[in-house]
This record gives sequence, structure tokens and C-alpha cells, in this order.
Amino acid sequence: MNNEQKALAACREYVACNLDIKKISQAISGNLYNCPENNGEEFRTHLKEYYLNRNIAAAVDGYFGSAVKGEEEFLACPHCVEADRLIQERKAARLKLGSAKRRITLLGKSS
Ligand SMILES: [Zn+2]
Repeated sequence: MNNEQKALAACREYVACNLDIKKISQAISGNLYNCPENNGEEFRTHLKEYYLNRNIAAAVDGYFGSAVKGEEEFLACPHCVEADRLIQERKAARLKLGSAKRRITLLGKSS
């Protein structure tokens, strides 16, 4: 593969990653919107509560091993569990996007 082909492949991957991230973000929003904790007035979800408590636990006592407040409720909510899974998927997609950006930058510098 020559540099032009590599550049084109990197650009295609960049576009595809951005589209993936957009789709995943919409799916996260949809799942969180459907969480029964979300009452429409204040944005509340089991996931938000769990993440908050997990961060507090991590800051206070290192978190590892101890149960986190709200974890049971979070795990019982299919919308929040799916949103959490999608958030991890989006993290991976963002890493892939970063890799494509770096390749585009390097090819741009070398041309
Ligand atoms: Zn929920």
C-alpha cells in the first residue's frame, strides 16, 4: 500500500469511527432516557448514581473489593447496564479514532 492508499484508508477509518461514535452516543442517550429513574424533570439514572458512588468510593477508600452503593439497582436496570456497555464500546471507538487521526497526521507530515 502506498502513502496515498494509506491516507485514503486512514480517512475512511476516521469517518467510520466518527459515525460509530455518533451512533453509540445516540444509543447511550436512548437507554438512559428509558431508565425508570429518569422522571423527565431531573436527569437521574441508576448509572449516574452508580458512577457517582463508585467515584466517591474510589476517592475515599480505594474502592477495590468493597460494594458500591447503588450497584445492585444499577445491575438490575437493563437500560443502565446497556448504557454502561455502550460507554465502554464508545471508549474503544474513540481510541480507534485517535489512532486514525495520528496516522493522518503522520501521512500529512511525510507528504
Ligand atoms: Zn436505570
